[in-house]
Amino acid sequence: MWDNVGYIWDSVCKFESNRMTWQLRLAHLYPDHMNIYGDRGNMIALQQRCRWRGIACEVVSVGPGASVDWSAMDIAFFGGGQDSGQALIAEDFLERQGPALCAAINDGLVMLAICGGYQLLGHYFLTHTGQRLPGIGALDVYTVGGKERLIGNIVVETDAAVFGESFRLIGFENHSGRTYLGAGVRPLGRVLVGRGNNGEDGTEGAVYHNTIGCYLHGSLLPKNPQLADHLIRMALRRRYGDVGDFAPLDDTLELRAQQVMVERMLRVKR
Ligand code: GLN
Repeated sequence: MWDNVGYIWDSVCKFESNRMTWQLRLAHLYPDHMNIYGDRGNMIALQQRCRWRGIACEVVSVGPGASVDWSAMDIAFFGGGQDSGQALIAEDFLERQGPALCAAINDGLVMLAICGGYQLLGHYFLTHTGQRLPGIGALDVYTVGGKERLIGNIVVETDAAVFGESFRLIGFENHSGRTYLGAGVRPLGRVLVGRGNNGEDGTEGAVYHNTIGCYLHGSLLPKNPQLADHLIRMALRRRYGDVGDFAPLDDTLELRAQQVMVERMLRVKR
């Protein structure tokens, strides 16, 4: 009998160790200062979608004064914030994390930055009151605040060249900043409904290597599982090479909800 117990225990351990061979390290930048409209939900979605697939996740919170080995990180997330929250951490972000994070981004670190976080990945954010917040310049974009805020639900059609296919993202935007893209980045997609980067050129977000910045709160990733999986797949590919058996999940409900929202938004627009 004890032989059997030993055998069963052995099998359980093997099963666990097989499932846990993939491991990802996630860095969450300034979670206490930069977390509006549920942006933290993006971290929860990444972890849960990894957990469902048996991919182990380690999460590191990067607050003011933290020192981080960016070369050991797989995915970085930076949420949005009010101008005042951004002002509190911009200098620390530039000095403490800027050089090593830029190097990691150039090396293909997978990163998602939303709104205020997106702005601080660029060259600078000039707020509508005239305060110039420095960015780390990882993305070739700059942002200028305007008096009128760009607020509302948004639908974006992604650039097929970025994802290999084009799909529609839904989200919620609320920003005074107008972001303008330089030649070093390409837009994440084009705005079907809403205002996007600057309300003028029809673009939304910016992509550089494996880093995506955009204005979509929501939370973005629970509402758009295609994007969540894109980030996880890129991170696995970067760390482990071939990810052939990256298991699909049943996203029937999420995709249905996404579809309903896209249709509703397109209808309202007409
Ligand atoms: N404070 C910035 C702006 O208003 C970012 C806002 C946000 O992250 N939602 O443009």
